[in-house]
Amino acid sequence: MKLALAVALLLAAPVHAAPGDAAQAKEMLKRGIAFDTVKGRGKVPAYADYLKTALVAGGFAASDVAIDRHGETATLHLVWRGSGKKRPFAITGHMDVVEANPKDWVRDPFTPIEEDGFVFGRGSHDNKFDVTMAINALIALKSSGFKPNRDIHLFLSGDEETDWKTTEIQARAAKAAGVEFMLNTDNGGGTLDENLKPVAYNISAAEKTYADFKAVVTNPGGHSSLPTWPNAIAQLAAAAVKIDAYRFAPQINEITRASLTAEGRKRGGRTGAAMLAFVANPADPAAIATLRADPWLIGQISTTCIPTMVSAGHAENALPQRATMNINCRIFPGVPVDAVRAELEKVVADPAVKIGTDTVWLSSPASPLRADVMAAVAKALAATRPGLTAVPAMDAGASDSVWYRALGIPSFGTGGLFVRENEVFIHGLNERVRVASIAPAVDHWRVLISELAR
Ligand SMILES: [Zn+2]
Repeated sequence: MKLALAVALLLAAPVHAAPGDAAQAKEMLKRGIAFDTVKGRGKVPAYADYLKTALVAGGFAASDVAIDRHGETATLHLVWRGSGKKRPFAITGHMDVVEANPKDWVRDPFTPIEEDGFVFGRGSHDNKFDVTMAINALIALKSSGFKPNRDIHLFLSGDEETDWKTTEIQARAAKAAGVEFMLNTDNGGGTLDENLKPVAYNISAAEKTYADFKAVVTNPGGHSSLPTWPNAIAQLAAAAVKIDAYRFAPQINEITRASLTAEGRKRGGRTGAAMLAFVANPADPAAIATLRADPWLIGQISTTCIPTMVSAGHAENALPQRATMNINCRIFPGVPVDAVRAELEKVVADPAVKIGTDTVWLSSPASPLRADVMAAVAKALAATRPGLTAVPAMDAGASDSVWYRALGIPSFGTGGLFVRENEVFIHGLNERVRVASIAPAVDHWRVLISELAR
């Protein structure tokens, strides 16, 4: 049923639209949603083929677009050769989407539906929206005869939401191609107020590192009627209390200095004042206390580590032989993962509690703000949302950018979508985007790309 519908959509009559204009972009977004690109469904290659067909119809040579299979998923790589006056840059995005259970949705998540001024569907926002808009901007530029002065690479990954295997492969390819910096379609973007007026734009230039550590206490155990001490559960519990009470030292970087300054001025009040005081003096105890008390801000000024799961004991009447706890950390960019592990051990200060991890967590530095990228974003905003200034931001989550930054490629989330704060449904139910947001987003990418490649 779903497959038949997707095929019917693909065969639908072509829309009469200029190459890369908003009507064509909307059609491409809707058709893209019909590809159920959740991990394990094997639909990413078909979506990649569809995008390649669109790029070729938009004027690119078939030989400029490579699609590589990686198990059930795929990558797409377009190279638009330029004059070579400058080093190449890359645009990235992902073709896969997070699972969506049709039973929980008001409308089928993989049937694109336009209603009440919105396009509904899984991926309508994350990340098919900005992938589609960037592709339409490339098509519009190509058909207008634009000649880039540097190679432009488009890397679309196929497992960003799950395994990141294809991201790693593409980041290495970008490095090998001499890519100087990367623009990620998957983060950054704007905010609309209640009256749909654009009020803010963030360019994502850094991400916290995600890491899980396991704290483990082992004990010979025995019968609970013959107690011995120490008790593994009590030792682990004491460690949990210490980690819970611990606060990592405050830190600041170029990105958070800019974002806290902009947000502090806008917000005002006690929190706004604390943001500005922290920027002026990152050791200001009153400012630190205020920012630490806000769950949205504590992560902006430091590493955070939280006990999130515990498991202990093997029988109701036995001394516990093993007690384990998961500690989830969001690490400030530039801090080595092992330094955080060592700090946790120091905090716990009990040699019986072993803290480790069997995973290699990817960490990446903050990207130094580039004058050319900031100027191009400013131009794109002036063209589409006059009066707005781009503010750098540090994201809590991890995107494809982590892999590029880890290889020394500065990466910037420069998405073109503007949303109301209460209308962000990525990874959630009834994901949607405003139809009115399509035209300015295509323009956003068109100006951004042409500014950086002229
Ligand atoms: Zn995404």
